[in-house]
Amino acid sequence: MINEVLNESIKKLKGVGDKRACALLRLNIKTVGDMLAFFPREYEDRTKIKRISECAHGENVCVRATVISPVKCNYVRKNLIIYSARVTDGLINMDVTWFNIRFIENAIKPGEEYIFFGKFEQFPKRQITSPIFEKPGVNRQIGKIVPVYPLTSGITQKMMIDLAQQALSLTKGKLSETLPQNVITKAGLCEINYAYKNIHFPESLETKNAARHRFVFEELFSLQLALMQIKKDREVKKAQPIKDTSCMKEFLAQLPFELTNAQKNALRDILSDMKKSVPMSRLIQGDVGSGKTIVAAGAMFAAIKNGMQAALMAPTEILATQHFESLSPLLLKFGIKTKLLLGSLTKAKKKEILSEIESGEVSAIIGTHALLSENVKYKNLGLAITDEQHRFGVNQRKTLLDKGQNPHSLIMTATPIPRSLALILYCDLDITQIKELPPGRKPVKTIVANESLRARVWGFVNKEVLSGGQVYIVCPLVEESENLDLKSVTLFADELKNSIFKNLKTGFVHGKMKAADKESVMNAFAKGDIDILVATSVIEVGVNVPNASIMIIENAERFGLSQLHQLRGRVGRGQKEAYCILFPKSSNEITKKRMEVMKETGDGFIISEEDLKLRGPGDFFGTMQHGLPPLKIANLYEDIDVLSETTSFVKEILEKDPHLLSEENRQISAKISSLFNNNITFS
Ligand code: ADP
Ligand code: MG
Repeated sequence: MINEVLNESIKKLKGVGDKRACALLRLNIKTVGDMLAFFPREYEDRTKIKRISECAHGENVCVRATVISPVKCNYVRKNLIIYSARVTDGLINMDVTWFNIRFIENAIKPGEEYIFFGKFEQFPKRQITSPIFEKPGVNRQIGKIVPVYPLTSGITQKMMIDLAQQALSLTKGKLSETLPQNVITKAGLCEINYAYKNIHFPESLETKNAARHRFVFEELFSLQLALMQIKKDREVKKAQPIKDTSCMKEFLAQLPFELTNAQKNALRDILSDMKKSVPMSRLIQGDVGSGKTIVAAGAMFAAIKNGMQAALMAPTEILATQHFESLSPLLLKFGIKTKLLLGSLTKAKKKEILSEIESGEVSAIIGTHALLSENVKYKNLGLAITDEQHRFGVNQRKTLLDKGQNPHSLIMTATPIPRSLALILYCDLDITQIKELPPGRKPVKTIVANESLRARVWGFVNKEVLSGGQVYIVCPLVEESENLDLKSVTLFADELKNSIFKNLKTGFVHGKMKAADKESVMNAFAKGDIDILVATSVIEVGVNVPNASIMIIENAERFGLSQLHQLRGRVGRGQKEAYCILFPKSSNEITKKRMEVMKETGDGFIISEEDLKLRGPGDFFGTMQHGLPPLKIANLYEDIDVLSETTSFVKEILEKDPHLLSEENRQISAKISSLFNNNITFS
């Protein structure tokens, strides 16, 4: 009953008017419940008092010390007065210093003892600058664990703390449990009211950990339950099985190459899935260039030969067009007509294609998310393929599937995530990995460069273009930005065009351009009308320009390893020796290590494992698009043990109550049905 309060506007809290509500919206906080579920990013432990000798440089510490000098005022200049005093813990002395805080003069008294909290510095002298302080035993600001929240402009830590306190006192003791009681008991989780109190204002690190554990458990449990339900639902559905796979022989005979063993295995998995009357739901995970498209084509061919329609959805028009251009001549050899459906087609053209799809005249359909539009109606969609699935949300995948009578579903991704995690993240899917590249691929030579090599690199680019090659230059930003020292596409392209590459044809492309403009630049590059393409990572997905042989990446430290790997995969697709030249701006240890990994290996799976290790899971999963709702608290790397625990609970629950209809499971059932609703991740 209390849960109504949770849905009340955040403006119900004191101190929140229109302006602050607007700022809070940027943090996705709209309601009291959102505030309650807005967890601290970290905590400041102000409970443990340390001796000065135990304090490390740069550490936040509490020190209990007696003032042994009067407060010194140093008038540095107008508007800058430094107040400082010497204090001792009985063994060692240090200084405490404040800027422009006049009341310090009277507040800090020689001979008195205080607890100071702040960042300790060992060098050039022992001191804490701008410490918070109070008398021992007061415990107002010190002696506690204090939450630290993510902020946005116009919102301070102090406000967030106040809002969290208000949200807690409004709901205190009244929140009803969201997890089934027996799960709480068996898993030894803490109760929901206690959990909210202690995630915001923990009594100790132990109670914080208990609260966090509960929320991590709840988050992973809900996600897995939702995915497992999708899987269960699928298993009782009836799909059209394919009956005849003898046709595959002629298909394979028409290919200009022999499939790799990994491709053959993938196709075998797919065919054996589609022979069943349970709809297939298979993920093909294969590194860039491993040849997933032809596997998809094989699946389409089998479906179509067995009387179904097959659709292939790609995340960009460029990619969809490339698929169309490579697959339609192949399918035509068997008399199969393919159509390309894009959002940018004229109305008349679209209408024509739509009616051909609806009548069944066309059986192979390739397109972008235009395929999801309401107008698209199939006569008999039996196979739905999503390419580069990480660019689509679960919902979009589902929309496509809903257009058929339980069609088979094939999902392709080049995001190689560690298998252990894939099994959980994609627990509603069966997984096949393609771990082999077609023969004869030369690895891309990777070079980590710095500015002193700049002139040589430009000379190399020049030579390569003159001998017929093409070059990508990737920058992290679209436009120049003031506070970051990052290269931007527009400016850098301009600069190069007007100086060093005056005599070459340069072009640029980025995500903020109109789709049609993007297309035309990409097409010009593909045709060889542009020599040097300056771009953002928009070119990361799928594009195939075999003549491109050099990939230069500016500010390489700004990209995730998996992303660098994808970018590198844009070159080395033709006969020419290919190079990837990385220009990292920073030389810190992590960057060095990451660049080293890029140099050492071309295996996407190893790279993703390293990425996970080096960047830390928050970053890794934060930027990785996997089509699942973002995790608020769980950390798939560190909380992997919790995951295996939740897996067994989920199985047990679904065995007893497959549709989550019992009273005890009512809350959790409501929660998971809203889980995928706000999840459109198309980009
Ligand atoms: P990705 O897995 O990244 O989608 P593609 O399907 O685009 O890879 O394939 C990359 C290139 O490799 C294409 O030019 C394709 O024709 C070629 N290719 C695919 N399979 C083979 C093979 N077995 N032997 C030789 N070339 C192949
Ligand atoms: Mg591909």
